[in-house]
Amino acid sequence: MKLLSDDALHEVSESMESLSRKGISRRDFMKFCSGMAALLALPASLVPRIAEAVSGKKPYLVWLEFQDCAGDTEALLRATKPAVADIIFDIFSVDYHETIMAPSGRQAEKSLQDVVKNNKGEYFVVVEGSIPMNDGGVYCCIGGRSAVDIAREVCGNALATIAVGNCAAYGGIPAALPNPTGAVSIKEAVPDAAVINLPGCPVNVENLTACIVHYLTFGSLPNTDKLGRPYFAYGKRIHDNCERRAHFDAGQFVRQWGDEGHRQGWCLYEMGCKGPATFHNCPVVKYNEGTSWPVQAGHGCIGCSEPNFWDTMSPFYRRLPEVPGFGVEKTADKIGIGMVSLTTAGIAVHAVANAVKKKKSGEDKETE
Ligand code: SF4
Repeated sequence: MKLLSDDALHEVSESMESLSRKGISRRDFMKFCSGMAALLALPASLVPRIAEAVSGKKPYLVWLEFQDCAGDTEALLRATKPAVADIIFDIFSVDYHETIMAPSGRQAEKSLQDVVKNNKGEYFVVVEGSIPMNDGGVYCCIGGRSAVDIAREVCGNALATIAVGNCAAYGGIPAALPNPTGAVSIKEAVPDAAVINLPGCPVNVENLTACIVHYLTFGSLPNTDKLGRPYFAYGKRIHDNCERRAHFDAGQFVRQWGDEGHRQGWCLYEMGCKGPATFHNCPVVKYNEGTSWPVQAGHGCIGCSEPNFWDTMSPFYRRLPEVPGFGVEKTADKIGIGMVSLTTAGIAVHAVANAVKKKKSGEDKETE
């Protein structure tokens, strides 16, 4: 039985020729397609369809950088073995990316205008960084135009906008209190745009690629949660897939950096890990081609894929929360709720805790 039509086979062969010139073998390409299927939780029988989809017409892609540190761009460019970045650049026609494009000045801005005007409703936009709204948006200007002005035009006419990193998805560090520039997410700046959020510092390039592969294969972006994040990447808590979870359940915690528990790879909860309140697939996909991720490297999760994490998840090295009865016997879900409650309504939780403490001390006194 033929898995692909003759036309599809021709497209895949042409794509393979292009990739092999870059030193990427057919095996690497099929491994990439299988990896995408696994990441999107699709059956292996769809791998040929993915191969066909990513070998077809290249969609236009525009990458905008606003109030950012370029960490997401770095994550894209650091992808290696097989060169995910090469495959990505072969799948897309990347027409505008300030950091990596050869032209500059007017020529660069003309490339952007050409894509927006000639391909209305047909191109993807990746946005990195938040958008400042205060004082007419003067705190981030490119080519004499404010970020909000550019975002409204480019994202407003796009097929879809992918917000990469916490800053583009939720405002991130620039939006942390007191938020002097009035930084907001791309969805807040351009409410009518079709936006999917891929928060994290930085974005995991595999998740970005999977979103586009999903679109090319099925003609739609993946389903998302209420925060606009795709379920395949943000459907589970960090805590649920963490390799240190058995130590959490056993009550084995690191109590000091460099102590015996730290050397043994025990749970980092007592050191401030926010894994129980954070949704992301870091423990499964990891970073740098699956080499490692923060908790594996010995540092607690700081919750960088959650909204307002800089304000709500800090102090990053303090244990959450000091509520009576909040022990290791509780389930991750209860702990997650407890932590979210603390981060969103910390005063209320502490008030409950204090009330419980006072009641208990009152009872103790009565008993005396
Ligand atoms: S608290 Fe952090 S280190 Fe401990 S199991 Fe959960 S995610 Fe892993």
